[in-house]
Amino acid sequence: MSVVLSNLIGGEAVPPDNDEWFDDIAPATGDVIARIPRSGPSDVDHAVLAALGAMDGSWGSASTAERAELCDDIAAAIEVRLDEFAELESRDTGKPISFARNVDIPRSIANFRFYAGAVRHDETGFHPMADAINYTVRQPLGAVALITPWNLPLYLLSWKAAAALATGNAIVAKPSELTPCTADALADVIANLGAPAGAFNVVHGYGAEVGQALVEHPDIKAVSFTGGTVTGRRVAATAAPQLKKLSLELGGKNPTIVFADADIDLAVEGAVRAGFSNTGQICLCGSRILVERSIFAEFTDRLVEQVGQMVVGAPDDPNTQVGSLIGPDHRSKVEAYIELARQDGGTIRCGGKRPDLPAPWDGGAFLEPTVITGLDPGCRTATEEIFGPVVTVHPFDSEEEAVGLANAVEYGLAASVWTEDLRRAHRVAATVQAGMVWVNTWLHRDLRVPFGGMKNSGVGREGGRWSLDFFTDQRNICIKL
Ligand code: NAD
Repeated sequence: MSVVLSNLIGGEAVPPDNDEWFDDIAPATGDVIARIPRSGPSDVDHAVLAALGAMDGSWGSASTAERAELCDDIAAAIEVRLDEFAELESRDTGKPISFARNVDIPRSIANFRFYAGAVRHDETGFHPMADAINYTVRQPLGAVALITPWNLPLYLLSWKAAAALATGNAIVAKPSELTPCTADALADVIANLGAPAGAFNVVHGYGAEVGQALVEHPDIKAVSFTGGTVTGRRVAATAAPQLKKLSLELGGKNPTIVFADADIDLAVEGAVRAGFSNTGQICLCGSRILVERSIFAEFTDRLVEQVGQMVVGAPDDPNTQVGSLIGPDHRSKVEAYIELARQDGGTIRCGGKRPDLPAPWDGGAFLEPTVITGLDPGCRTATEEIFGPVVTVHPFDSEEEAVGLANAVEYGLAASVWTEDLRRAHRVAATVQAGMVWVNTWLHRDLRVPFGGMKNSGVGREGGRWSLDFFTDQRNICIKL
């Protein structure tokens, strides 16, 4: 069943000006599931105009309480349709339905509730002087662009949208052209709630056409971008001359560091989760596993055993743990890294090939979860972002060597450290170059904490009050007494 998606501009579901469309393909079957507007710069113009109109109208004068209430209403409306959203997300991405139902959609709901609460409880500064007082106010930026990737489509869009709406901005969202369905459903939710027209707009299409036009648009005041590092550089180069506010959440090659004193059961389980959640397609995935040599053989054997037992296949089966990759092109890219690892002398300890699945999944972009050992930690497979179900495992002999290996990549997004030694945990957390460090856990998220990367993993922080700061101008007013 194929549906025709629309843009949401000024509260109306509208076709693209050029009346051009392209196919949205379900990666797990190869079926066409939707037709996507191939929008262009004129659609972006309309959406930005609608956003500016909203800022000049009732949305611009909405109170904090009204904005918070809208976010709560959006959360409640998604919650009512949770199963529908989860099925859309699973079909559009090929991810297991259990992941969409337990992670993507509940987190999207939580994002709207969180930012409703965050602005209700927000406080701004007051700095008294002997002869004057200063008070600081937050002001929305205006029309802002949200550009998001395909791996966690609604999860990431809702995270940005909730913060931007709660702080009073008007949004033009550009979802990934590979996964537009839940953004379309969110647009439907927001339009049906009777939100002020133009407060939330969605323009579908290709990055080079819609995304680029959006970043270039002179009336877009800020760009919150999540995606690959190469695209992030391009976005930065376009936005910088116009001095737009910019948040870049980019790629990663995250180490999982396992010391000999770790609880090995927890560490193996954690490494499997970090390596293969969402089929390895999370920017935070731990794809570079560093293990102290004295436990390397035991740890690796147990890792291989657990990964080998993972259920790969039908995303709609609640027992499935590893779904499809986002598409055949991406699978080819991941397979090329596995081939490179073979040529570099690596041993494929498990996986490395396409699973034999019955119809309709035989047309999907599946790949067995793969564990590789025996590689030089400096080789391409071990240092470049693969963004698929592939981990490489490397031994180390000392804490210094472990941190050195962890830091010897261009990225610095996240790290997980597995040890029972508290002092070691603090030492490693302090020296490993990562925006987020987890000790004896992975992807354990509190929505209040800062999120973002060092080095080539990004610029700026989102999450908690950092998103409130990003989506507002903080203005100080000084009154002489
Ligand atoms: P991508 O960079 O190809 O695309 C991301 C978005 O940017 C898409 O909506 C795309 O259409 C758009 N885009 C493409 N060219 C553009 C341009 N010139 N101007 C403006 N927008 C443009 O990324 P992807 O393949 O969709 O996602 C995978 C990448 O995202 C991985 O590198 C992953 O690590 C990263 N990611 C990072 C985080 C994080 O929080 N750091 C989270 C998820 C994914």
